Parts: sequence; C-alpha cells; structure tokens
Amino acid sequence: MRAPGSQSSLREANSQRILEAVRTFGAITQVELAAATGLSAATVSNIVKQLECDSVLVTSATTRSGRRAQQVSLAPTSQLAFGVHITARSLRTYLGDISNTVQHSSELPLPVDHRFDTTLDRAALLLGEAVEEVGATLDDVVAVGVALPPNLLATMTGGALHGWEDVDVAETLSRRANRPVVLEQQADAAAMAEARFGSLRGSSCAIYVRAEETIEAAILIRGQLHRGIRGPAGALGHVQVDPSGPICRCGARGCLNTAVSEDALADLLRLSHGPMNLRQIVASAQRGDAGCRQVIADTGAVVGPVLANSALMLHPEAIVIGGALATAGELFLGPIRDALRARPLLGSADELLVASELTRHAEAIGAAALAYDSVQTPGPAGRIVG
Ligand SMILES: [Zn+2]
Repeated sequence: MRAPGSQSSLREANSQRILEAVRTFGAITQVELAAATGLSAATVSNIVKQLECDSVLVTSATTRSGRRAQQVSLAPTSQLAFGVHITARSLRTYLGDISNTVQHSSELPLPVDHRFDTTLDRAALLLGEAVEEVGATLDDVVAVGVALPPNLLATMTGGALHGWEDVDVAETLSRRANRPVVLEQQADAAAMAEARFGSLRGSSCAIYVRAEETIEAAILIRGQLHRGIRGPAGALGHVQVDPSGPICRCGARGCLNTAVSEDALADLLRLSHGPMNLRQIVASAQRGDAGCRQVIADTGAVVGPVLANSALMLHPEAIVIGGALATAGELFLGPIRDALRARPLLGSADELLVASELTRHAEAIGAAALAYDSVQTPGPAGRIVG
C-alpha cells in the first residue's frame, strides 16, 4: 500500500485529474489540459506520455489559433456502451466505445402511440443484433443509456410518450437486455454528446437547445451538465411568452411550448395544409412551401428572444441548436441569430451560435457516453439499475 502524499500517489492523483479532463472534454490539447487541471506543462506532458504507453490515451498533431499543438484523446477500447433514444415516432441506437469509435448505429420508425413493452423489447433486440454485427459479446457492453423526453423523468411534462408515464423504463430494459441501464433527458444526452464529440468540444460553458416536439435546453458548465435541484434545469420551453396565452402541460400560462410545440405548429397549418407532423413541415419548407416556411421562421422569431434573454444569465461561449427544427437551417436559425444580435452584451452572435455536428444521432451517442460514465464514476448521472 502506498503512503498518502508519496510521489507515486501524487502521480496517480494527477493521472486521474488528467483522465477526468480528457473524458470531460472529449479531446483536448496539452496546453488546455494544463489549464484545466492546474498542473504544469511538464507534468502534463510526462503523464500523457506514460498514459499513452499504457494505451489509455492517444495523441495526434493539431493546430490551435494557428499554432501546432498536441491533441490528447482517449484510446479506443474493447469496452462498449449502448445508447438508445426513444421518441414518440422513432427509436435510434448507437453502439460505441469511450473514444466514440462508432461500431454500429440504427434508426427505426415507430408507430404513433407505440407501447412501451414492444419498444423496449425492440431496443433489447437491437442491442443483441448490434453486438453480434460488430463481433463483440454482451459482456463487452458495460451499460446501456436511454435518452427520453422530459415527461418520463420529471413531473414537468411536454413531448409526451403517451402511456409511458408509469413505466419503469430502466428496470424493464435492464431485465430484457441484461445490462445496467441509466436514463437521461434527451436534451441533456444530446448536449453531452456535442460536448464530448461534437461542436461543443472544448467549450466550458454552453447552452444546447433541442427544438423538436417541444423546446428543451441543457446547460453545460465546466464541460459538465448542470442539473436542477428539485426539477430539470434548462426548461426553456416553460419560459412565459404570453401572459394571457393558453395553459401549458406544466400548469402555467403562456409557456413558450404552448406557442411553438409541434402540436402548435401543426394547428397553425391545419386549415391550409391538413394534418402534418414536424418532419413533414420542415421537409415542405425545404421544398419551398410558403406556409411552412412562414411557420418555421415565426417559430425562430419566438424562440430567439427567449433564448437571448436566458443566455444573458449565463453568458455562454457557445449555443448549439439541435432537433428537427434546426434541420430547416437558416430559415429557423436566422431569426434566432437576429435575436442574439439584439443583445450586444452576449458578444458576436455569429460566433455564439454554433451548428450541431451530431444532429439526430446526438441523443443516442450522449446516452451511451453517460452509460459509460455511470460505471466509471457512479454518481448523480442518471439512475442506475441492474
Ligand atoms: Zn409550461
């Protein structure tokens, strides 16, 4: 046993700090590692060399602000995590290792009002198939992460999976897949994926907005998800936009979600276009349909000021917009950028607003990353069953 305070225990503690920082930021230069851990450049360099010899880290040449730098990331491993994203209309899965070397991904449309038992059965079957296809075994999968709409994880409703309210998803899937299962809100999972492997890599303070069935947001501080204490953080869709508006599912009046949810957008188009879902509205807009383009631009103009006002509280270095509405591109993002521009304190709106890199795969990738974390450092990240 090593004495506390000895050289080797200090080195071990420093190695842990470096590993933790690389895990948090996905990929990071040695200079950034020194700043993030408070260790000297020489110590970082020595420890990175050792961890590279041990096949824990890999380094590659990169450039930062025009200068050459050593980028450090986690080495691929044989341990895998499985991410599942369940929405009202689709089931997406992702199987990968901690360095985000994608092994397998799939996407399955689901019928409206799909039942939890058949959907969770499918998720377990897809895990078995994915593992077989990459030549691994179930034992290689350390855990399963499930990204879900917020109503399944908190009393604050919206983006509902009907008939799932009383289902213990973690317990049910854990029994069927025979692996530990963690649950996460879909916006938080997507934000985590962008932070580790996408457009928020290296960002220490950022907002991720998921604009789809409803408007949800996630907040990253020092590369970690900020979680609410008595309810979810990032409930952007429940900011009031109309004091005399309709009552929201949360019980309050005139929330953003009552104005720009998928249902609200479909209502605006029902008379002229008949029933449509959000993907159809976005696809029609992209084909040039004037009514659908108007609805999406108006949605950006409603979401923009709410986001700009909320961002003032945090002053993030980046805001990423994901979800189906973001796939409408400038039509949706343009009015949001204009609203950010109208708040000069936030700095350059062009630099602040960043495109999602992982798009519709972000939630499943993030769920897998959080599943991985749950077995490395059991703690507040999701609920572990199994
Ligand atoms: Zn509300």
